[in-house]
Amino acid sequence: EQLKMEEELREAMRNQELELRYQPQVDSETGQVVSMEALVRWKHPTRGMVSPQEFIPVAESTGQIIELGEWVMGEVARHCLYWDTLGLNTFRVCVNISPLQFNQRNLPEWVADFLDQSGLPPGRLELELTESAIMNDAETNIAKLRALKALGVDLAVDDFGTGYSSLSYLKRFPIDTLKIDHGFVSDLDTSDGAAIVDAILALAKTLKLRVIAEGIENEYQLAYLVGKGCNLLQGFYFARPLYPEDVPNMLQTNFSKQIHTVIGARLAEENRSC
Ligand code: C2E
Ligand code: MG
Ligand code: MG
Repeated sequence: EQLKMEEELREAMRNQELELRYQPQVDSETGQVVSMEALVRWKHPTRGMVSPQEFIPVAESTGQIIELGEWVMGEVARHCLYWDTLGLNTFRVCVNISPLQFNQRNLPEWVADFLDQSGLPPGRLELELTESAIMNDAETNIAKLRALKALGVDLAVDDFGTGYSSLSYLKRFPIDTLKIDHGFVSDLDTSDGAAIVDAILALAKTLKLRVIAEGIENEYQLAYLVGKGCNLLQGFYFARPLYPEDVPNMLQTNFSKQIHTVIGARLAEENRSC
């Protein structure tokens, strides 16, 4: 199965079967879409859409993730530069970087060249790194993270809380954003789930990091996270990952009304139960 997928993935990259989608990230205070996460999709000729959860691990184990990751960055630059021509240049794009990509010795040089050659302003880019990739050999990774940060890009820790973070390293790493894993968000209606989210939000506040919750699907989760001061919000509640052509419209959308209505309803509920 893996060999077959490896071969098919090679074909897919040659035949332009890969596509990007963009999922909005909403500022909880202004309701504005301030960033978009780029998510890769594989339009397989016979199987239809194949989930990245299926093919990213294969690409990671075969090393194809390096080429795939470079393709993703190239597409992101191409899309961003097009959106620029429409005057849409105030939002960041977040790109997932797999552990193998992160572990390449020359990643900072590669990103520097990419920024140079594509013309994408570094401030438009946030790299989403996994907790396990940066914590594994943390001492060496500090230098790499600093080199990336010095280029002017933002750095996020994806799926935060699912690996093992050393808090002392977390403080020393030049990180901008913690992403609360959607597993914790979907558990918010349990007391343990809520306690974990509270702890991550408190940690982010103390370390002065931006915090984003992903996988928000309902009003309960939204009200809880906004009530606790979560800065950014992402999930099907706002939008599913969008085709690039639907991004300009989404950037004009403001969610503050929905956010205020949900918060208002929660406050009214709390008052009633008092
Ligand atoms: P991730 O980076 O944690 O991305 C978030 C995943 O959650 C995405 O799945 C997204 O579609 C999904 N999601 C967003 N909102 C909701 C929601 O409200 N409910 C639920 N149930 N899910 C939601 P997707 O697109 O299938 O991607 C899965 C994973 O594949 C990503 O997890 C990321 O680790 C990896 N991936 C995707 N694109 C890339 C890429 O370009 N490069 C690399 N290295 N990895 C990628
Ligand atoms: Mg991600
Ligand atoms: Mg994630």
